[in-house]
Amino acid sequence: MSRRLLSEAEERELLEARRGDQFHDECGVVGVHGHPDAANITYLGLYALQHRGQESCGIVSSNGHEQFVYRGMGLVSDVFNEKNLARLGGRHAVGHVRYSTSGETSLRNAQPFYATTDGGPVAIAHNGNLVNAAPIRRELEGRGAIFSTTSDSEVIVHLLARSREPTPEERLIDALSRVKGAFSLVMLTDDALIAARDPNGFRPLTLGRLDGAWIVASETCALDLIGAEYERDIEPGEVVVIRRGRMRTLRPFAPAAREAFCVFEYIYFARPDSNLRRHNVYAFRKELGRCLARERPVAVDMVVPVLDSGAAAAMGFAEEAGIPYEMALIRNHYVQRTFIQPAQSLRNLGVRLKHNPVHGILPGKRVVLVDDSIVRGTTLSKIVQMFRSAGAREVHVRVSAPPTIGPCHYGIDTPTRDELIAYNYSVDEISSQIGADSLGYLSLEGLRATAESLKGGMCDACFSGDYPVPIDNPGSAPQLALFREVDEDDAR
Ligand code: AMP
Repeated sequence: MSRRLLSEAEERELLEARRGDQFHDECGVVGVHGHPDAANITYLGLYALQHRGQESCGIVSSNGHEQFVYRGMGLVSDVFNEKNLARLGGRHAVGHVRYSTSGETSLRNAQPFYATTDGGPVAIAHNGNLVNAAPIRRELEGRGAIFSTTSDSEVIVHLLARSREPTPEERLIDALSRVKGAFSLVMLTDDALIAARDPNGFRPLTLGRLDGAWIVASETCALDLIGAEYERDIEPGEVVVIRRGRMRTLRPFAPAAREAFCVFEYIYFARPDSNLRRHNVYAFRKELGRCLARERPVAVDMVVPVLDSGAAAAMGFAEEAGIPYEMALIRNHYVQRTFIQPAQSLRNLGVRLKHNPVHGILPGKRVVLVDDSIVRGTTLSKIVQMFRSAGAREVHVRVSAPPTIGPCHYGIDTPTRDELIAYNYSVDEISSQIGADSLGYLSLEGLRATAESLKGGMCDACFSGDYPVPIDNPGSAPQLALFREVDEDDAR
C-alpha cells in the first residue's frame, strides 16, 4: 500500500469535503452475544466508554425474532433508564456512543444504524472514519440510493444491503472490502454478533467473556466494569462471527502494508485504566512523561498535571526529574465537553469553567505544567495566565506528545490545519502566544522510541504527516442535510 503526505491543496479539498460530510466522529462500541441481560450489559459497557463520545448514544437488541432500538442525544446515563432498557429485550445487543464537534448534531446520526435487508435485519455500530465514503456515497446516490444520515458509516449499511452474498458475514465482508480507512465495528443480525477491524487496525477492539456470553468492546475498561474476562484483542483485518454461542474467525481482507494503531489513543483518547493491545495506557503515558523529562528538563519547584489527561505523563515527568508532583490545578468534573461549543469565545469560558489553580500554594513558585497535547493552544494559554495571576514566579509548559501538525482522517476529532497552532507557528512562537516562560514538546523520535515497547505498528500521522491510508478523491462533498429537523423550540 502506498504512503504519502497530503499536499496542502489535497488537505484543503479534504477538509472542505469534511465540512459538508461528517468524517469527524469519535466513538465507542459494545456488542453482547448470549446474555440474558444483554441490553443492561451493553448500557454499562457504553457507560465505561463515555469518554469516547458524549453527543449521542444508542442500543439495538435482538431476541432472535424481533429487534429493539433506543437511541438518544446526550450522555448514556441521561438517555437510558430502567424503563427503556427493560424494553430492549433479547440475549444479543450492540451499542454506540458518538461525539462530533463539527458534524451535524442530530439524532439521525446517532448509532447503531439499522436496516431491514433482504438478508434479514442488521444493526451496525462503527468506530473510525472511512476515507472513501464520499465517492462511494456519490456513486450509490447516482444509482438511486437514499441516505438518511450524514455519517460516513451509513455507506457500510448500503453496501451490505446491496451485496448478493449468501450470509450476513459475507455481505458485511463484501461491503467492508470496498471501504478504506478505519473501522472497528460490531454488527448484530437476528442470530449473530459480528465484529470487524480494518487491516491497519487504527482503532481498538477487544473481546471478552462473561458468564458464557461473548462481549466485544472498544476498550478493556468496559470489560472491567461489567466484570467480563479479557479474552484477546480482535486483530487488524480480522472478522469474528459469533453465532449460537460459538466463535469463528475469518481473515478476508488483503493484509495492510503495516499495522497502524492510533498512537493518540495511548497519548490522550483511551482511558488510562484500559489496556490497548495488552499494554496499559497509564503506564505508557508515564513513560512518555519520563522521556519528556529527559528530553526537556527544567529547573522548577513543582510539576503540575493539566488534568485529567496530563496526569500520568506529569507523574512520570516528576519521578524522572525528582521534582515534587503537586495537584495545583483543580478540574471541575461536572462541566461536560458537550457544553463547550466550537465558537472561540465560549471555548475560553469553557477553560475557566473547567480549571482553577490552587492559589494557596503557588505564590513565588516555579512551576512546570504537563499536558498531553496542544491543539489550538486555548487551554494552556488560559491556564498559564491563571497560574501567573495566582502568583507563580515562573510557568513552564511541557507536552508529552510532539506538535500536532495535521488533522486525523481516521477517527479522532482534530480541527483543520488552519486551527492547529503547531502547524502555523514555531515552538518559540507558541511559547510566547501561550505566555509560558518556556515550552518543550516530546520529540517524534522520543515518541517512536517509547512506542517501541508496545511492539506493533503505529499511526502517528497527526504528528508526522505520514498518513498510512491515502485519502481518496477528497473534493466535491455530497449534498447533505437538505432537511433540517426542527424541534418545538425552533417552531415557536
Ligand atoms: P486546545 O485548548 O485546543 O489546545 O486543546 C488542548 C487540550 O485538548 C489538551 O489538554 C488535550 O488533552 C485536549 N484534546 C486533545 N485532543 C483532543 C480531542 N481530539 N478531543 C478533545 N480534546 C482533545
